[in-house]
Amino acid sequence: MIAEVVVDISNDSVDRVYDYFALPTTKVGMRVRVPFANRLVLGYVLKLKESSQLDKSKLKSIKENLDDIPLIKPELVELTDFMSSRFFLRKADIFKLILPSSIRNDSVRDKTYELIKFTGNLDEILPLLKKNAKSQILALNYLNEKGEEVRSKLSEKFGSGAVKALIDKGLVQLTVVKLNRTPNVDITEDKRVKLNKGQQHAVDTILSSADTFLLKGVTGSGKTEVYMNVIEAQLKLNKTAIMLVPEISLTPQMLNRFTSRFPNIVAVLHSGLSDGEKFDEWRRIFNGEAKVVLGARSAIFAPVNNVGVIIIDEEHDNSYVSESNPRYVTEDVAIWRSRYNSCPLILGSATPKIESYQKALKGEFKLIELNERVNNLQMPVIQVVDMLTEVMDGNTSPYSRLLISKLKECIDNGKQAILFINRRGYASFMMCRECGYIAKCEDCAVSLVYHSEENELKCHFCGKRYRALKNCPNCQSKSIKYGALGTERVVNDLREMFENIPIFRMDNDTTRQKDGHKKILAEFAVTSPSILVGTQMIAKGHDYPNVAFVGILDADVSLYTSDYRSTERTFQLVTQVAGRTGRKNNDGFVVLQTYAPRHYVYRFASQYDYIGFYEKEINLRETTAFPPFSHIIRILVSSENEQKCIQVTKKIYDKALQLKEKYDKLFIFLQAMPSPVKRIKRKYRYQILARIRLNDELLSCLYSIADIIEKDVSIFIEHNPNNLR
Ligand code: ADP
Ligand code: ZN
Ligand code: ZN
Repeated sequence: MIAEVVVDISNDSVDRVYDYFALPTTKVGMRVRVPFANRLVLGYVLKLKESSQLDKSKLKSIKENLDDIPLIKPELVELTDFMSSRFFLRKADIFKLILPSSIRNDSVRDKTYELIKFTGNLDEILPLLKKNAKSQILALNYLNEKGEEVRSKLSEKFGSGAVKALIDKGLVQLTVVKLNRTPNVDITEDKRVKLNKGQQHAVDTILSSADTFLLKGVTGSGKTEVYMNVIEAQLKLNKTAIMLVPEISLTPQMLNRFTSRFPNIVAVLHSGLSDGEKFDEWRRIFNGEAKVVLGARSAIFAPVNNVGVIIIDEEHDNSYVSESNPRYVTEDVAIWRSRYNSCPLILGSATPKIESYQKALKGEFKLIELNERVNNLQMPVIQVVDMLTEVMDGNTSPYSRLLISKLKECIDNGKQAILFINRRGYASFMMCRECGYIAKCEDCAVSLVYHSEENELKCHFCGKRYRALKNCPNCQSKSIKYGALGTERVVNDLREMFENIPIFRMDNDTTRQKDGHKKILAEFAVTSPSILVGTQMIAKGHDYPNVAFVGILDADVSLYTSDYRSTERTFQLVTQVAGRTGRKNNDGFVVLQTYAPRHYVYRFASQYDYIGFYEKEINLRETTAFPPFSHIIRILVSSENEQKCIQVTKKIYDKALQLKEKYDKLFIFLQAMPSPVKRIKRKYRYQILARIRLNDELLSCLYSIADIIEKDVSIFIEHNPNNLR
């Protein structure tokens, strides 16, 4: 037999698939070791076939199979074809997504321990031992009583020599036990609820056909219950489920709910796990022990068999589109897998992507709506506050009078409050009032953020730290201005206003350690009154019944970014953050502070008018020819050498211009320019931006003109990128 093998050579941008003679035991989906250019390299078997087109005398043979059974299931082998054609990825890179690195490189082993058992008859055995073998006698007595003990503990008590002697004499049995490094989850009692009519209808509809469903349900409408009921029904049919959430470590509650409802069969996969935990969870899924996979984006590649449902919760979230190589769109992979398994796919959100809602209206997705919160709860009132009026009335602080009074009221009532500010650190920049000097990063074209805790300036792009300014390095003036406020400053201010009230901060700085989010949220959950200050990580899916107030300090942060989706993102963020309150009682209240109170995004968001927002936004996208009415292709060229960067950009741009001549009707926009952030980590960044009407031929041409190899220059091509900085 001939095997088609993907050869995994790092630092090689070419996709290499070669024919080799297979070993008799070689199977599709196995990892193998193959000779390649005078060395042995890792490969994956894609296909077995009778013969090769190539000259037999030139073919080499697979050196060894690295697995007894294929680690890559047929479905996932097939998926690589789809992914390479859809996302223009190298096969070897796709296998990196499918197999976690610990599995791929055999870098992690099973964690085991040795257990010693004694099952013999003490009275018969003791006379056989020498009288002076005291430790051995004691150890046997101990084991006789306990039955078994971990070897290391036994050695600690009676000495390793005595234990070894007992083993060597065959008087006790030694077994090696595999330990599961299961991520640390708390299991609480499973709260069963009776589904309401809307939820039941949603469950029934989803179970009746293998379609893609858009489950549009307001925050607190009970979407998670719908997911769990669908999963339960599929488990009864001996099927499995994949449930994706934006970043699982941010929502320990979700994990908790799932492990409580489905004890012992949930596996979690996310970036917060140690390699050992990832290894063990992957193995539990692979061998069928775990039937429900709960995880972040990459869990879409989980090796489950016979999938009964795939769920993408908060489908509008950015994290579902990967931003670094290999770049892929989770939803597309999910659609492919759901078709392969003939199972339903659920995209759930209170604020679906504009594209998704359009697809639902067109019938491409089936729309299911849950327009009410459970238990007749109302949506919390969102009061928009004009910060300019505040300034004119003499309040120059970043906190409006309404915000402070509502916050006080909430705390006085013994409740919890959440304050949202989408900026970490203390102040967004430090600037000299005299000469206008702004502290910038040496390696990136961005201003530095002041962090008061360390009294340092930090670059949020590369992480480099600098000493805070005491006086201006340019003119020595001591008059320093602080930029817009971030989480640290808010916490400082609140500590002054609310002495003795616990205040928690949740952002990238406070959640760096393992289980960092979990610890903060666990403490917040049991502390009332209290205030939680955080960035967008507090917006996602948390369900704390005692939160009665939400303050959105600077809603405009996400509004004025150089991205066609900035309004949509702002709508989503406001809705999600507001949704954290009033989840148990009708006591939720939201204050939204902005300098643009008449912007349509706030008008619609404060009324929870998704449809109104959608109609306005889709019209705008149509008249300006932005997605979904066009596709954005960005070719990003970066290099430490600016001249080289410009040259390569120019070279690609010239080819793009030729394409534009050929496909003129398909081009809406084409331009080369420096990126909005012109330098990151010492690398200059130039880009070619195209807006096109989608056409497979043109798309593959665009990919191929960017597919050049140039020393010291990296080139990326992105399709509808998340982020245009
Ligand atoms: P969503 O995911 O839409 O934000 P959840 O599923 O988290 O909503 O539900 C919000 C809260 O309401 C949860 O605490 C959940 O246990 C509860 N809940 C959901 N469905 C029901 C129901 N039918 N009856 C009573 N409580 C429910
Ligand atoms: Zn100065
Ligand atoms: Zn930097």
